[in-house]
Formats: sequence, C-alpha cells, structure tokens
Amino acid sequence: MQPEEVAIGVKFARENNVRLVIRNTGHDILGKSEGYGSLQIWIKYIQKGISFQERYTPSDPCASNEWTGSAMTIAGGYVWKDVYDVAFKRKITVVGGGDPTVGCIGGYTQGGGHSPASHDYGLAADQVLEAQVVLANGNIVTANACQFPDLYFAIRGGGGGSYGVVTSMTVKAYPSKPVVAQSLTITPRSDDSEVLLDAITDVYQQYPDIMDAGFSGYGSWSIGNTTAASAKRAAVYIHIVAAMGKCIAESKEAFDALFETLQKYNGSSLDISVAWYEFPTYGAYYQAMSGVSQPVGPPNSAMTSQMFGKSALTANRTALRNIIGIMAGSPEECASNTVELVGGGKVLTDGLDKYSGVNPAWRSTYIVNIVSRAWTDDADAQAIKNDVTYVKGGAMRSLNPFLGSYMNEVWTSSLWRD
Ligand SMILES: Cc1cc2nc3c(=O)[nH]c(=O)nc-3n(C[C@H](O)[C@H](O)[C@H](O)COP(=O)(O)OP(=O)(O)OC[C@H]3O[C@@H](n4cnc5c(N)ncnc54)[C@H](O)[C@@H]3O)c2cc1C
Repeated sequence: MQPEEVAIGVKFARENNVRLVIRNTGHDILGKSEGYGSLQIWIKYIQKGISFQERYTPSDPCASNEWTGSAMTIAGGYVWKDVYDVAFKRKITVVGGGDPTVGCIGGYTQGGGHSPASHDYGLAADQVLEAQVVLANGNIVTANACQFPDLYFAIRGGGGGSYGVVTSMTVKAYPSKPVVAQSLTITPRSDDSEVLLDAITDVYQQYPDIMDAGFSGYGSWSIGNTTAASAKRAAVYIHIVAAMGKCIAESKEAFDALFETLQKYNGSSLDISVAWYEFPTYGAYYQAMSGVSQPVGPPNSAMTSQMFGKSALTANRTALRNIIGIMAGSPEECASNTVELVGGGKVLTDGLDKYSGVNPAWRSTYIVNIVSRAWTDDADAQAIKNDVTYVKGGAMRSLNPFLGSYMNEVWTSSLWRD
C-alpha cells in the first residue's frame, strides 16, 4: 500500500461520512485502534523501508531544525524489532519500545513513548524530526519545524489517531555506548509481606538519586500471585536498571545509600540479591536484558498508571509507605505493580522544546507506576476495576495530584482484541 492509497481511503471516508480508524499493531490498551463497522486503515501494510542517515538532512530545507546528528527514517507500519534489527547492526541507539512488538510511528511515539533509552535521550515523541502525514482532506504533507509546525507539535505527544495518518517518520539516532546493568531481587523469608513493602518503600525513595546518577529501567513487584496457593512464593521485588557510558566500578557508588538502608533486612527477614553486568553496546544490553515481548492484552484484566515526581518519592516516607501498602493490596488480590524508571534526565529537560506536544507532567516525572489485576470469569469484575481505578489508582494520584496517567498505559477491559 502507498501513502497515496491511504489518501484515497481518507477522501472516501470523508465524502461518504464513514467512520475512519487508523490501526498499526492494534496494541492500544484503550482500544483506540478498534472501531466496529468503521473503515480501517491498517498501516502495517505500508512498508517502504527503514533507512539510516549518518548526518540528518531535512527532506526539505528547514532552517529551524538544529539537529546535526544521525537519523533513521521509518517509512511505514514497522514494529520496533524491525528498526532495532537495522540500528543494532550499525551500533546505533534509537528511542523505541521497551517491548519490541510495539509499533513505531503510531500511538506509541505520537502518545509519548517511553523506552529503556528515554532517560538518556528523551521520550520517543521528542525524537521526531519530521513526518509524512495524510491529512483529513486527503493531502499528503511533511510536518516539521518549518512546515505545518502545529501538526508537528500535535503528533509529537498529542496522541495517535487524532491529527492525520502518519505514513513515515524520521527520528534521531545516537551512537551506541557501553552499558552497565544491575539486577536486584528482594524476596521475603516468611509470610510477612509488610517487611517486603518496607523495603520496597526504601527502594522507591532512592529512585530519584539512582536515576540522577544515570540509571533507568524497569521493575515489578507483587505480594501475591494468580493463585492464592502460590501467593507466598510470588512475593517479590525485582528490577533491572542500566546506565550508558559507564563501567561497573564507577556505577556502584550510586547504590551505596540504598544498600546501606536495605542492609538491616538482608539475611534476617529478606533475601536480597544483586548482580552486575557489562555490555559493549546498547543493542547487546537491550537484547540480553531489556527487550521482553509481553503478552498483548491478557484477558480479564484492568490496569492504571500514574506518574511520580521526585518529591512524591522522597518527601514523606510515611505517606509513601501507606500508598505502597494500598498499591500492594492483599495477597489474595494478586495485584501486580510495574515500575517504569523511564523519566528524569533528558525527559525533564526536553520540556524546553517548543515543538514538544507531550503532556507537560512528563517534565516532572521520574517513574511511571502501573497497577494491574486480573480476574476469573466468576469474579466480580466491576469491583476489581473499581479497586484498580479508584482505590489503588486513587492512592497513587493522591501522592501526585498535579501529575497524571500515561495516556498509552491506562486501562484494559475484559473485551480484548488481537
Ligand atoms: C505489549 C505492549 C508493550 C508496550 N510497551 C510499551 C513501551 O515500552 N513503552 C511505551 O511507551 N508504551 C508501551 N506500550 C503502550 C503503547 O505505547 C500503546 O499501546 C500504543 O498505543 C501502541 O501504538 P500502536 O500504534 O502500536 O498501536 P495501535 O493500537 O495500532 O494504535 C494506537 C493509536 O494510534 C493510532 N495510530 C496508529 N497508527 C497511526 C498512524 N500511522 N498515524 C496516526 N495514528 C495512528 C490509532 O488510531 C490508535 O489511536 C505497550 C503496549 C503493549 C500492548
């Protein structure tokens, strides 16, 4: 399929008053790429290549573009794995999905797009140098800092499916650096999950300092599991964080305060294990430790997310510990928490970019925390959705009243699509 054919479809929908939906991977957790009875433009059928420029040259003369580094053009509905295959061979880093199955130029990037590389280089939306867009009137335009700058602003964070059909994007690319990574696992020695939650609170309090020292990544924790019988075994906190351009020897200091705090539990109430790894490139790190393909939409589950700023994590330990207890729920609830240490660093400073359309709350965000719960067919699904949204989500919001949810990671219903 060609962009010109997309334009014909858009014109047809307009002239015949047919509902139009744009779909890339169909990953959207809110179901924004669905639309029963609609005409659907499935951009995965446009694949006009992935190309690399050592030094970016705008496709038209655009004096307002100051980027002099490398760039990659993703001309169609590719997923990040496709782009990583090209980038990693060249020892290049691009800001793309933590999960390699996420689409590149659709809802992910247009809605913000966090990544194992976003702390270092900014959100995916902030990487966009230019895009080819089919407008609602069927015209095909280039949006950049010089042409259609309002559209350029809108597609750099304003959300997918709203402003036009993006058929190609050119994004910033960076020379790969060596990566040092750390895994941390904390498990309780008894049925007492309170002590695990105490330790998790200590870890959360240290996130801003760890991230200011250059580390970012992903973690998860729970005090229960999908069956109450195995709940004890599943109580665990685990994270993998990494820093670019560092070696192990110069990285450990960033964790001194955390390990000093955790020392009081280790070997008595908790087992704490730490491992360090070094990789020659970001690609090697991503492939070994970060780029995990997750299930696309487990059925019968609900989730919400909340951005956390520095003060919410550090100012009041008692309040944070209380909220973490609510996020954990009871072991029988089997709630799962995912911690995305994807903010701080460049995500904060990119707020100065006047063409950034991302939610300004990102500019104060260090972590995004997702709480999710699943249920069986005989459970009270509405009660679980309410618990996730109002009790656990409400608790997180109370600590961060001026930040928000990440628009791309908010809600799953029992009606999942493939
Ligand atoms: C398994 C999984 C892993 C994830 N990992 C991450 C992650 O690491 N980081 C992160 O930030 N988010 C992640 N997400 C969330 C992800 O950002 C959203 O699901 C996002 O909406 C996916 O975009 P998509 O284009 O692939 O999906 P789609 O469902 O195809 O589209 C999403 C939205 O974008 C619109 N859209 C799609 N293509 C275009 C286009 N070409 N032009 C205009 N609008 C378009 C659609 O109409 C819809 O509104 C993950 C989601 C899943 C399910």
